[in-house]
Amino acid sequence: MIFEIVTLFPGMFESPFNDSIIKRAVEKELISIGFTDLRDFGTGPRRSVDDYPYGGDPGMLMCPGPVVEAVKSAKAKFAGHKPKVLFMSPQGEPFSHAIATEFAQEKSLVILCGRYKGIDQRALDLCVDREISVGDFVLSGGEIPAMAVVDAVSRLIPGVLGNGESAGQDSFFDGLLSPPQYTRPEEFEGIKVPDILISGHHENIRKWQKETAVEITRRKRPDLLR
Ligand code: SAH
Repeated sequence: MIFEIVTLFPGMFESPFNDSIIKRAVEKELISIGFTDLRDFGTGPRRSVDDYPYGGDPGMLMCPGPVVEAVKSAKAKFAGHKPKVLFMSPQGEPFSHAIATEFAQEKSLVILCGRYKGIDQRALDLCVDREISVGDFVLSGGEIPAMAVVDAVSRLIPGVLGNGESAGQDSFFDGLLSPPQYTRPEEFEGIKVPDILISGHHENIRKWQKETAVEITRRKRPDLLR
């Protein structure tokens, strides 16, 4: 899977993508992550990419020209196939395990990050395939949402997680939240690990985990069971 991120702040991605699972996935060549710097497509001596919005609203808006040119340039890196273009937006479809699973089937994804008050609607109409939101709140830019998408999608690509960390046991994989988990010590501050988990009886453990997952899902996220 190849991710190409279109952003004014490529530097923001350095640390989050340079550790642990994502770093390993890049090293194993299971994913690659490239950047298109929107600043390179700015105009004038200051390579400006934003301007005042029509209608007199306060704040700045990203101009259509630099955005369309940057997305065109990002797509041109993929010879032979057409990547889907995602726009990270609070107005988009709520991101979910189901959408991450769908994206994990793609060969490549271009992810456009907005800044300021957002992006001129004409640029979005011209180049965006899907708008994706990470929740009903407004962040200062699409970079953190893009990181969340790259991370969640990468985890679902075969080989990215080691055997011991399979995504199959995570919340949402089978429509349920994951059951509670415990590690050593067996007793902590007077609270013991449930007996069943140290019984060594694998079949009973699975049954307990399944029942507990259903119970926890019913309590915390009843909407998932509907
Ligand atoms: N004026 C816009 C918000 C702009 S926030 C509105 O009210 O809809 C600036 C940028 O941050 C957006 O263009 C988008 O790329 C990103 N962003 C902010 N909140 C987000 C969210 N919840 N999910 C995904 N992207 C978000």
